[in-house]
Amino acid sequence: MRPDLADEAITSPDPQPFPPIEPKRWCCCYCGGGGLDSYGEICLHCEGLGFC
Ligand SMILES: [Zn+2]
Ligand SMILES: [Zn+2]
Repeated sequence: MRPDLADEAITSPDPQPFPPIEPKRWCCCYCGGGGLDSYGEICLHCEGLGFC
């Protein structure tokens, strides 16, 4: 066991804390959140997810 490896593990940077996830999502500005465009096709802007 090399002591310098242990030091490296100790001095490794702390993991970045995840920012709080916004519970509210944005309604897609193209399909209005329905996930389909005016032709009934999957909205290419949000890929059918309804938010972007
Ligand atoms: Zn959009
Ligand atoms: Zn959309």
